[in-house]
Amino acid sequence: MIYLLVITLLAVSFITVISIFWGRRVKTSPRIIVLHSLESKSPDISGISFQRFEQLLEVIDEAGLTFGTPEESLRDHTKVAITFDDGYDDLMQLAPLLRKRSIPIAMFIPTAYIGKHNDWDHFLARGRRKHLNEDQVRELAGLGVEFGSHGHSHRDLTSLSETELRKELELSRRVLYELTGQEIVELAYPFGRCNRQVRELAARLGLARQFGSSARSIDGILIGRIPVTKFDNSFTLNRKLCGGFVSGIEAFKSAIISSFSHLTPVVRSHPR
Ligand SMILES: [Zn+2]
Repeated sequence: MIYLLVITLLAVSFITVISIFWGRRVKTSPRIIVLHSLESKSPDISGISFQRFEQLLEVIDEAGLTFGTPEESLRDHTKVAITFDDGYDDLMQLAPLLRKRSIPIAMFIPTAYIGKHNDWDHFLARGRRKHLNEDQVRELAGLGVEFGSHGHSHRDLTSLSETELRKELELSRRVLYELTGQEIVELAYPFGRCNRQVRELAARLGLARQFGSSARSIDGILIGRIPVTKFDNSFTLNRKLCGGFVSGIEAFKSAIISSFSHLTPVVRSHPR
């Protein structure tokens, strides 16, 4: 009985310390959100409904925060940047909204998959989801969406030789530049995985701003982002963006959830 009490006290103390620590960090960190798709029916936890996305916009408005690009949100922490990884074609649901309202949105897409079906995220899904095609990328770019590299073929960048890594990054930048006319200076690591070699080579190639998939930032190059998943609601979204004790618990939960994405390269069925 006494052991149970001690273990409970230790667990509560641990969660409290982590929560206070993370809660304080949220208030002083850039507010950059990472989303994956606007398809909530997929068993993939990172897909949210379009209605939940609209709720997120309301939470940002009601909290007195404004929208900005990732670059702006690094300079001004009252600006919230919205980013999407992977470029599934369900993101075209954003087009009517962007015609009505100018919201900076950044998308990090693996260029080898443009117009093709996904082959790494269908582990639990019933069918393979489709990625944006070239016309859709151009249309979104015309509506103000900013594009960034997510590697060329969505490989775990830490598993590549320097030659392969260089090719992944250079090719993705070139394809995106040719499609959108945008200078590509941002990178989101596939599966959130990076190491010092990846960070430094990407920076040398001109990818000045690099983003992970959890709130953790490292060595002034890797910039953390706030993951939003289908487990979120208005309350947790507000806490994730505004800080405080409960936000620490939310950040802790997000770190655990995002660590599961690191397992995806292991179960990926069709490496390219
Ligand atoms: Zn990805």
